[in-house]
Amino acid sequence: MSFASLSLHSDLLAVLASLNYQTPTPIQLEAIPDVLAGHDVLAGAQTGTGKTAAFALPVIHRYLIQNAENDQKAIRTLVLTPTRELAQQVHQSFVKYSEGLGFSSVVAYGGASINPQIDALNKGCDVLVATPGRLLELAMKELIDLSAIETLVLDEADRMLDMGFINDINRILKRLPESRQTLFFSATFNDEVFALSKTILKNPKLIEV
Ligand code: AMP
Repeated sequence: MSFASLSLHSDLLAVLASLNYQTPTPIQLEAIPDVLAGHDVLAGAQTGTGKTAAFALPVIHRYLIQNAENDQKAIRTLVLTPTRELAQQVHQSFVKYSEGLGFSSVVAYGGASINPQIDALNKGCDVLVATPGRLLELAMKELIDLSAIETLVLDEADRMLDMGFINDINRILKRLPESRQTLFFSATFNDEVFALSKTILKNPKLIEV
């Protein structure tokens, strides 16, 4: 199986070729068609499996398709991560996979000055990668517009719960459009993780690699 057989946009295929990505990893093979088809996804995946590209590539693909008719930057995708390190890593992956495509990613996390993050957000972006506390702070100060979010990604949901982010996550969810796609990634599953997934996913496709 190749990336081309996943029906990704040719500009994206060119970036993947330049990165020398030849074959999709198992999670990419399973998740990309479901994400492109608009389904919610519940995926069990460890770091190192290629899970970031499994959600980043369909998001960039969708941007390439939609951008022709819409040049207004609005945050269409929100990725929540437990730590600033993971937020930076996911942001860097979006930058790498969209090189030269006009797609823009902004990252926001706590423990760092908020002003440069606000400046970056004010320039407009297609995806925002954020840790829950800082995202909530930005939202409560009405510094971001979450009304155009089409896709929400929870990356390493189990770690977010371990770190006590459940209340922040629930408060963020209340501020997002009801009608959206949600992609839920977790390395491990316990009752709390399942409970959260049940409250936020609609008829999810289950993926385990
Ligand atoms: P992740 O699990 O998302 O942290 O990705 C793990 C590593 O695999 C990253 O360094 C990616 O750049 C790399 N990677 C992801 N997908 C592929 C692929 N299909 N082919 C080659 N490398 C990949």
